[in-house]
Amino acid sequence: MNVAEQVGQSTVKTFDAKKVRQDFPILDQNVNGQPLVYLDNAATTQKPNAVIDAISDYYRGYNSNVHRGAHSLSDKATAVFEAARETVATFVNSPKKEQIIWTRGTTEAVNLVAHSWGRANIAAGDKILVSTLEHHSNIVPWQMLAQDKGASLIPIPVSEKGEIDLQAFAALLDSRVKIVSIGHVSNALGTINPVKDIIAEAKKIGAKVFVDGAQAVAHFPVDVQSLNCDFYGFSGHKLFGPTGIGVLWGREELLNEMPPYHGGGEMIETCSFAGTTYNQLPYKFEAGTPDIAGAIGLAAAIQYLQCFDRDEVSAHEHDLLEYCHQRAATCEGLKRVGEAKNIAGVFSFLLEGAHPSDVGMLLDQQGVAVRTGHHCAQPLMDALHIPGTVRASFSIYNTRDDVDRLFAALEKVKQFL
Ligand code: PLP
Repeated sequence: MNVAEQVGQSTVKTFDAKKVRQDFPILDQNVNGQPLVYLDNAATTQKPNAVIDAISDYYRGYNSNVHRGAHSLSDKATAVFEAARETVATFVNSPKKEQIIWTRGTTEAVNLVAHSWGRANIAAGDKILVSTLEHHSNIVPWQMLAQDKGASLIPIPVSEKGEIDLQAFAALLDSRVKIVSIGHVSNALGTINPVKDIIAEAKKIGAKVFVDGAQAVAHFPVDVQSLNCDFYGFSGHKLFGPTGIGVLWGREELLNEMPPYHGGGEMIETCSFAGTTYNQLPYKFEAGTPDIAGAIGLAAAIQYLQCFDRDEVSAHEHDLLEYCHQRAATCEGLKRVGEAKNIAGVFSFLLEGAHPSDVGMLLDQQGVAVRTGHHCAQPLMDALHIPGTVRASFSIYNTRDDVDRLFAALEKVKQFL
């Protein structure tokens, strides 16, 4: 099943990526003397005018602190900031907006859960499962927790194709497994993990599940209720929003039971030297002045994305990947890395006789921006016995012309080898 089928659509209808490009001013420029081809979307996406304008409007028109003002600007900032939370809640189908916690990004969402839920619920001898595909930000916080508590962090193996070994996963599940933390989509290979099945299995033994949605939310709709996960995290900047803002969604009863993560203003109900009582959700987890412009920008990004038929977006991106794979099949010396059945947004590869970073540099000289290296997934690279890959990652505004430019540039790269 491909991405398009997964979201119930298999053909591109009216979606027009060339028109979409016009909403993204940064794309209209030359880099190193060539029109820019931006294929580093898994690292960060570009921002449409709608997002740039929303942030600018805030700073130009109603910049003020939230929740604490006795004046009109602050009231407006608070209203728009809280409306942004509502937008995110609807976007992931959260039962309540109070279950949306602002974070700095996916990394902070994982750290929040590892620190708060983890410290309260993980004991010596317990097990935490992650897959070998994970980004470091979905490994290291759990590793730190496991070290502190005398628990074990256990990697679920992946196949050569880059798919989680579900049999091995099932065999690892026992009563000591307290949490499973899984990426929805791998940033290094693009594998769409069968998170719904993984969650269902984990629930059978009473384990909690965190889903790292950093690479998923821009590519297909996410419904936390249908997934039945306990926590879901993502970053605004990979979803056409600004850097520095992200989201943790959590199951209400778990969030209510969890101790605060950071202490400070806004997260308290009362504070005295005799003791402090904590605010209700979501503020209990939002100490200090939040990234107000970031939240407003993220909501604008979500509203922008929702202007499109999400099935058409997925179908368009899938078409680009299919086209890329066709071109790759006839590109001498190119070896795909990651051939999972279900892939979103990512084309990872190696060029025979060339180090990935040299390929990246030579592509950049031709105006083609990709990422090279281990992609913050060193355990995966170790498992695949490679130092890293070249990664072209696609988004809503990429076209088949971009794929053609990539392959034309690769032919030139080969001449330098
Ligand atoms: N998880 C995945 C799968 C990612 O791709 C990334 C970033 O590349 C992260 C987590 C961390 O995201 P951030 O740096 O925005 O916190």
